[in-house]
Formats: sequence, structure tokens, C-alpha cells
Amino acid sequence: MNGSIRIPAPINEPVLSYAPGTPERASLKARLAEMAQEVTEIPCIIGGDDVWTDDVHDVRSPHDHAKVLGRYHGAGPEHVQRAIEAGRAGWDTWSRMAWVDRAAVFLRAADLLVSPRWRDTINAATMLGQSKTVHQAEIDAACELIDFWRFNCHFAEEIYAEQPRSAPGMWNRSEYRPLEGFIYAVSPFNFTSIGGNLSGAPALMGNVVLWKPSHTAVLSNYFIMRLLQEAGLPAGVINFIPGDSVAITDTVLAHPDFAGLHFTGSTGVFQMFWERIGAAISSYRSYPRIVGETGGKDFIIAHPSANPDALRTAMIRGAFEYQGQKCSAASRAYVPESVWARMKDSLIETTRGIRMGDPADFRNFMGAVIDEKAFVKLSSYLDRAKDSDDVEVLAGGGHDRSKGWFIEPTLLLSRDPRYETMCEELFGPVLTIYVYPDEAWAETLKLVDTTSPYALTGAVFSDDRAAAREAMDALRHSAGNFYVNDKPTGAVVGQQPFGGSRASGTNDKAGSAMNLLRWVSARSLKETFDPPTDYRYPFMGAE
Ligand code: NAD
Repeated sequence: MNGSIRIPAPINEPVLSYAPGTPERASLKARLAEMAQEVTEIPCIIGGDDVWTDDVHDVRSPHDHAKVLGRYHGAGPEHVQRAIEAGRAGWDTWSRMAWVDRAAVFLRAADLLVSPRWRDTINAATMLGQSKTVHQAEIDAACELIDFWRFNCHFAEEIYAEQPRSAPGMWNRSEYRPLEGFIYAVSPFNFTSIGGNLSGAPALMGNVVLWKPSHTAVLSNYFIMRLLQEAGLPAGVINFIPGDSVAITDTVLAHPDFAGLHFTGSTGVFQMFWERIGAAISSYRSYPRIVGETGGKDFIIAHPSANPDALRTAMIRGAFEYQGQKCSAASRAYVPESVWARMKDSLIETTRGIRMGDPADFRNFMGAVIDEKAFVKLSSYLDRAKDSDDVEVLAGGGHDRSKGWFIEPTLLLSRDPRYETMCEELFGPVLTIYVYPDEAWAETLKLVDTTSPYALTGAVFSDDRAAAREAMDALRHSAGNFYVNDKPTGAVVGQQPFGGSRASGTNDKAGSAMNLLRWVSARSLKETFDPPTDYRYPFMGAE
């Protein structure tokens, strides 16, 4: 098509309130009730075909672990092989398709997700399957995924528009080719939108993808795959292969066409990937791109000038929303004695007042943690804290597995700034607080910087401009997303590009041009209009 095509200017999808009396509340509640009665059969989707296997697993609700929501059919090595073949077949047309046509599929997917039919389904699947409250599901599964798809199209347009200069007599061009081979997208349980983005971003840039979702997010991720099919994604472009992560990965990494890893999850798993790819490097056709966003030990530091009410709200929301299972969740806080004295009681009281339970009851602020493994890990941290002389349990500390994997929102006060819960990623609703003498502000900034290997998110609370600046400078490398007088969670696509450094990942900023650039391999084209016909240069002429 002749024409300089423009992507519609993206705007962030408005977050619906689901307040009593709103149409969205009635519609979502109806879908929740319906889906709670269903048992969804989830196949692998390979080359556009539903593939049923013998490796069948239940999908259960974290807040009601007896409740079976679905059954997924896991991929074995032969299915992975089939997915690689399907990708190869899909690559031939998809990698050559005009980028505006590829973008149209994702723009259409975004609009389908705006519609109540898909919005309710994917939000309800996230609430039931991953135990998110309606607000947490809405900002993730609906709004962030819509934003990823729309903004990525806009950033792709910017990338393709970036062209080199041309000297007289020639025309230079950059062509942003997809990678040769397939991309392996491995997504975590905690954000539905991340599954859609890890698979969608490389696909938008013309690549084909094998998408292995987390076994605890299969339900919502399966519906994303169905939505993409409805939006017109051609067969074989994204192949959905839930199942045994180790066996699937073995087959994927053994293939010479493996061209890139798009990963979000824990640091240990990502480091394992990097080591294995490094060890096999000579077996691949190209150097695989490795993009990974991983764990965090995200902090809030308050200056003596901090507003205690704003600080308390950020601590509660930052630490306990989605049960602290956000990579960006605040899990360590450094509070000066003077501010602590003014907020301690209200912080404890507020934490004790938090309602926890089934997200289908909209009065709850928290649901359950994702599975038994997370529950056992968090309970053991809490039990050790109760026995420790270094720590006082100010609120919470309880756990109950009778119906669901429930961990109480917990405040720990540690006298040791390097106590285990100040340093390690727990991934649960546990906030450890260290109270420092007001005059130790500068030393405390150093402490924040050196306490953990991670560098994902962090926040400073200060009403003193010079102190806020000091924190920004001292903590320059301590967080890839840094907040001043705001909680360290809730990054919005197109507004705060997200990712961390050090052990927290490659910092390729999901939902930005920086990420999309990792999925292309540029070709420089030089065309000369009137090429020389004599090899000799003027300097070679006789005197
Ligand atoms: P996880 O590492 O357990 O799993 C992530 C993915 O890796 C899943 O698909 C899982 O099946 C797969 N996996 C696990 N072990 C594997 C193995 N041995 N071989 C191959 N694949 C394997 O992480 P999770 O519990 O799903 O997610 C929570 C983690 O993700 C936390 O550490 C959190 O901080 C991190 N996270 C980071 C970001 C970010 O942007 N930095 C965002 C969300 C989550």
C-alpha cells in the first residue's frame, strides 16, 4: 500500500472503578459467577491447532484450593518440536508481512480486550486463577495489556522511522529485520499482562514465538491466546505450550534456531537460563538475545521531613496490594525515629484492619498467595521472625491454609538492618521496617544501596527538596524505577518504562522502544545511483 501510515496515537486505557452501581461491576460479577461454575479445558495451541496431550493438570483457585477451574494439557518434547516447526512455517509469511498489518492484529486485540466480553473474561480468570482483587486484575489483565499492545505499535513505528543519513549520490536505509529463528517467551504468574507482552512484543516485530506460561497463570493466559486468535493472529506466530518447564526448556534450548529468550520471573531461574545458553552458544545459528526482568528487594526510605500519612499509605499499598506478589512490592522500609513516632500506631492499626479473602467479595483488599510452595516459604519466614531476638512482629504474622493459601499482611520491626527479611526477596505480604536515628540519613542511604543484590524499584519520601535530590543521587544505581513521594509499585506503560538493573534484570524496559529493539536485527542498505566504472582514483594520475 502506498502511503506513510501512522499508528493511532496511544492513550492509556482508563481504569474502570467497579464501584457499587456501575455497569462494569454488574457485568464482571455475572461473568465471575459463570466462570466459577466452569471447568475450562486448556489445550496447547500449536500452529493454530488445539493439541490435547496426556499430561493433564488441574488449575485451582489460590483462595479456594479445592476448587478446580480448569485442566491444562502440558506439552512434551514432541509438542515443543512441533511448535518449533509451526513457528518455522509461520515465520516465512509473518516475518515478511508489512509491519502495519502485524500492528493491526495487536491494535485489534487491544480493542477486543476493551470490550466487556473479553475484559470480563480475562479479569475474571485473573481473579479466580491468580487471586487478584478486581482493581488489581483491572490494572493488570485489562489496562496494562491493552497499553502494552497499543504503545508497542506506536514504539515500533518510531523504530522503523529511524533512518540513517545519505550522502550525495546514494540512498542509505535501515531495515529492521526480525531475528532468524524463534523466540522463547517464559512468563511469570503474577501479571497476566506480562504473558501477553513477553509473547506479543517479539511477535509484533515480525518474530515467531513459543510461549510457555506459568503453570499458576495458565487460565488467564489461555484466554489471551484465544483473544489473539480472534484478533487474526496467523497460525504458528505464537505457539502456546504450557507444561513442565524443565522438559520444555531442554528441548527449546537444544534447537539451533533458538534466537532469543524473553523472560520474566525469579533471578535464579534467569541465571540458569543465561548459563545454559552460554554453554550451548556454539550450537546456535545466531547469538540469542537474552532479555530478562527478575526479582527485587524494593525499598522505601523516609527522610525526617516526610509526611507520615503519605508514607503510611504508600507502605500499605506498596507492600500489601496483590499480597506483596509484585516484583516492585515494597518489602523493606527505613523510617527515621521522629517520623516513626508519629505513624507507628496508625500503621499497625491500618494493617490489622485490612480485609483478606475471596476476591469475588469486592470488600476484600487482599486474596491468597499463589500456591502451596509460596505459602510454605512465607510461613517459614514468619515463624523464624517470631522466634528471632532481632525482630518484633508488629502486625500479622499468621497463616492459614485450611481453605486457601492465606498469609496475613505482616509488619516486622527489625533491629538488625541486615536481617534476612531486609535482604531477601520473600514475594509475599511482609514489610520489614528498620528505624534509624534522624541524624543517620546519609549512612542510611548507603545502607539502602548495599543491602541487597537487586535494583528494581525504590522510593524516597521527603518534603525537603535537597534531601530528595540527595537520595536520587545516592541511590542512582539502586533502582531502575525510582519514585519521589509515591509508592514503588504501579508503573504505567508509556509513562514509567519498567525494569531494573544489577540482579534484577537486563533492564530492557518492558513496553518501550528499548525492549522492541532487542527483537530486531538491523540491516544497513546502501544504494549508489551512479556507480564508478573505473577502479583508479584521481591521486593515481601521472604528475
Ligand atoms: P519463576 O521464576 O518461578 O517462574 C517464571 C517462569 O519460569 C515460569 O513460566 C516458570 O514455569 C518458569 N520456570 C521456573 N523454573 C524453571 C526452570 N527450572 N526451567 C525453565 N523454566 C522455569 O517466577 P514466578 O514465581 O512465576 O514469578 C515471580 C518472580 O518474578 C519474582 O522473583 C518477581 O520479582 C519476578 N518478576 C519480575 C518482574 C520484573 O519486571 N522485574 C515482573 C514480574 C515478576
